[in-house]
Amino acid sequence: MSEGIILKALSGFYYVDDGSGAPPTACRARGRFRHARISPLVGDRVQFTKLPDGSGSVDEILPRRNQFQRPAVANIDQMVIIASGAIPVTDPFLIDRMISLAAWKGCSSIVCLNKCDLDAAQSLYQIYRSAGFPTLRVSAETGEGIDALAEMIAGKVSAFTGNSGVGKSSILNALEPGFGLPVGAVSDKLGRGRHTTRHVELFRLKNGAIVADTPGFSSFDTEQMEGCRKEDLAATFQEFAPYLDQCQFTGCAHVKEKGCAVLAALKEGKIAPSRHASYVRLYEEAAQRKDWEDKKR
Ligand code: GDP
Ligand code: ZN
Repeated sequence: MSEGIILKALSGFYYVDDGSGAPPTACRARGRFRHARISPLVGDRVQFTKLPDGSGSVDEILPRRNQFQRPAVANIDQMVIIASGAIPVTDPFLIDRMISLAAWKGCSSIVCLNKCDLDAAQSLYQIYRSAGFPTLRVSAETGEGIDALAEMIAGKVSAFTGNSGVGKSSILNALEPGFGLPVGAVSDKLGRGRHTTRHVELFRLKNGAIVADTPGFSSFDTEQMEGCRKEDLAATFQEFAPYLDQCQFTGCAHVKEKGCAVLAALKEGKIAPSRHASYVRLYEEAAQRKDWEDKKR
């Protein structure tokens, strides 16, 4: 029996990579996990058996670190959130929602500001640097920062996310020339095109990094936050951490309460206004989700 990672799922086959550099083995699911009604996901670490005809069978799914629904992928170590200070300018709320989801699912976030040849994205850079996230300025066009990004993803499974047109495909191509992902004009991709695809595939780069190009992530919906109560949200904003204990005993929502330490930190400039605004927006979404779930019962 060998161990590997599922890179791709297609027509009932799971393509398992054992890390040896050999092509992935096309496996059928045959293991006893089938009785447990769990099916293999892209990203799953599995035990598999190679069969004489070159195909294989997945025998066991190893415990998952995390799991996403749309796109269906497991075991993401980190999100690489691609944003841009140039056209299209990224709304910080999209970044924050992604960071929050990532944190909820137990993976870390890297903020990668692309198109720095056009715009230094100074304000976005400040916001995420001071909130403690690894923040990079890159340009898929000039190659600036691409080595630094390559270093940060080496040996890990990273999901690349970002709103359409920020340069996700261009960055992946810059990381590994000939990656083969289509780079399109911004206008071609808005409203239709690649982000309507829901399939997800992992790619192993030469430096050992595994990356997921996950079109579905660029417009993931809040359902992915399922199970995250409004009370849990503050913990997904890492820079709030030093202040949370100071209001916890009052059941503080950190939205507009008097004497809130998070709001005090916001006022003192220790928390970025856009980050707190995103928190409030997600808090309200979570509260509504709860109402809706209650009505459903
Ligand atoms: P995606 O939708 O996020 O995959 O974006 P693409 O990779 O298709 O890029 C969208 C557009 O932005 C294309 O016209 C790219 O040539 C352009 N682009 C991507 N990265 C950069 C960059 O770093 N600098 C500049 N100036 N343009 C870029
Ligand atoms: Zn508070």
